[in-house]
Amino acid sequence: MKTVQVNIVTPDGPVYDSEVSMVIAKTTSGEIGVLAGHIPMVAPLAISAVKLKKENGSTDIVAVSGGFIEVRPEKISILAPSAEIAENIDVQRAKEAVKRAEGRLQSKQDDIDFKRADLALKRALNRINVHEGNI
Ligand code: ATP
Repeated sequence: MKTVQVNIVTPDGPVYDSEVSMVIAKTTSGEIGVLAGHIPMVAPLAISAVKLKKENGSTDIVAVSGGFIEVRPEKISILAPSAEIAENIDVQRAKEAVKRAEGRLQSKQDDIDFKRADLALKRALNRINVHEGNI
């Protein structure tokens, strides 16, 4: 099977760079599976897991906190505000982020930014799910 180069990049630097046979990603309008040679396309990503199927049959999983996927026939680039390979996720940190975000969402204070807390909660739950292979 043909392979395609995939780069996942954040403002903090590159997170993932590999040749893969298929990328499965969740755009804001649904899941897509992309193979080598795909026509050019750009789509916004949900806070979600990106699955990268390798030629040897293994699959790498990366948590992304949104961003964009840019597909070209010979290269796929994912630009995300933050992204972590499953093995590098600090679950304890994500669990603490869940508690903080849930506390804010349940707060009765007027000055709480609920949208921001909701996004923080989604990022943390996504990291926990990716780390636990629950995707
Ligand atoms: P926190 O409140 O724990 O900082 P956050 O969702 O606000 O979480 P981000 O702003 O998305 O964090 O990311 C900041 C940096 O920290 C990024 O480099 C991101 O990859 C990293 N990061 C955030 N949470 C984790 C985690 N649980 N494990 C590993 N890296 C993380």
